[in-house]
Amino acid sequence: MTVRAHGRAPLQRSPYNSLAMTTSRCVVQTGPRALEMRELPLPERIGPEEALLRVDACGICGSDYEQYQGLMPGLPFPLIPGHEPVGTIVEIGELAAKRWGVAAGDRVCVETLLPCGFCRYCRAGQYRLCSGRRGLSGYGYLGLDTPPGLWGAYAEYLYLDPHTVVHKISKEIAPEIATLFNPLGAGIRWAQQVPGTKIGDTIVILGPGQRGLASVIAAREAGASCIIVTGLSADERKLALAREFGAHHTIDVEREDLVHQVREITDGRMADVIVDVTPYANEPVVQAIDLARRGGTVVLAGMKGQRPVEGFFNDRVVAKDLTIKGAFGVDFHAYEPAVRLIESGKYPLEKMHTHTLPLEEAERALKLLAREIPGEEAIHIALVPGA
Ligand SMILES: [Zn+2]
Ligand SMILES: [Zn+2]
Repeated sequence: MTVRAHGRAPLQRSPYNSLAMTTSRCVVQTGPRALEMRELPLPERIGPEEALLRVDACGICGSDYEQYQGLMPGLPFPLIPGHEPVGTIVEIGELAAKRWGVAAGDRVCVETLLPCGFCRYCRAGQYRLCSGRRGLSGYGYLGLDTPPGLWGAYAEYLYLDPHTVVHKISKEIAPEIATLFNPLGAGIRWAQQVPGTKIGDTIVILGPGQRGLASVIAAREAGASCIIVTGLSADERKLALAREFGAHHTIDVEREDLVHQVREITDGRMADVIVDVTPYANEPVVQAIDLARRGGTVVLAGMKGQRPVEGFFNDRVVAKDLTIKGAFGVDFHAYEPAVRLIESGKYPLEKMHTHTLPLEEAERALKLLAREIPGEEAIHIALVPGA
């Protein structure tokens, strides 16, 4: 464990930080679609409950693009984005090391949220819903004006607050692959834990992006015997990967009648579980009701741009005795098995990771993910400082 002396001693860094850096290169977002590179000072000292992380990679997901566009309300610009960090601990306080069970030199996956630990949700083990601290309190969402300012992982270094939740991961795993603990954790929670998917179930996963593909893996691990994944014609590559990860059927919803296909595949029984991870599109929510068997479960985990769903058929939900569950975020219960599954090497997750880009190309990374760059297809992208 490396604990730096406090007081007026000259700034010294642990041997893990070989350059003895005192500043961090960061991508700073100053407003909607406005990013710039800045060099910001590292904290002068790391207290007993805190740590400093050298960022090895930061995953990018749909929320990053929403943030980039300025669609998330109340963000305190300027700030450093980046909420899916994997890194190496370069410095850690004695208490933090003891509480988190990690030491300087360890590689860790860092959860986005900074739960308060005291509100009713935290006390009830539902810290995904915590609102006890500074509103949306998590990495990538706090401003430069909240000391020490280094709250985002589009940077060389990340400050680790006392409320941080970390998962140690083997250094054998490439950092950009390790960042897949985010989508994989989501798949495990949304496609397995929330609906209670079990051996022999039929599950329909609407949307073949990072989280849809992760849901395939989670459904397979849960023992589902029929996994169906939907996508658009442009998603051909993702649907092929879904089959490689264990999907039994993939359906191009632009060319095939989804409900009819599922009826054929299931011999009219329809699905036990439906998981919607499509962004923006509302039709999948309506379809999910039709795809469910009587007594089935629908998990809604895709954000629809704050729009209500047209064509939602209440009476079908009642008559079919459906369970509809919203799924927001991921927590320790799902991230921990995600990290272990990555370490196991059981799935060729590297096939999901399509792009590694340096911090300087953060904007290109975001546009790539949102298909704003014609002719280039991305599934999972990670920013790696110095890549
Ligand atoms: Zn994310
Ligand atoms: Zn709380």
